[in-house]
Amino acid sequence: MVPNISSIREHIIFINHSIPLAGHPGVAKTFELVTRHFWWQCLHADVSEFVARCDTCQKAKSRTQKPPGPLQSLPIPDYKVTRKKGLQSK
Ligand SMILES: [Zn+2]
Repeated sequence: MVPNISSIREHIIFINHSIPLAGHPGVAKTFELVTRHFWWQCLHADVSEFVARCDTCQKAKSRTQKPPGPLQSLPIPDYKVTRKKGLQSK
């Protein structure tokens, strides 16, 4: 159990995430590395926040989301909308 001192907890996460040997792993791996030796109540939330704030990860990691597909045009409606008269059939 680690005392509730944010600088100590942050340093423990830093050692398991940011040093060159750690290699900036993601949340799950960083969490697993920290829990090998330490544990505190909101550890997972602290690790998630730390990784989300990590400047190196934000710059270096690629997106994991699937790229969006090409834009597709909508079908042309068979009615005309005018400001004065509303919907009108062609
Ligand atoms: Zn990082």
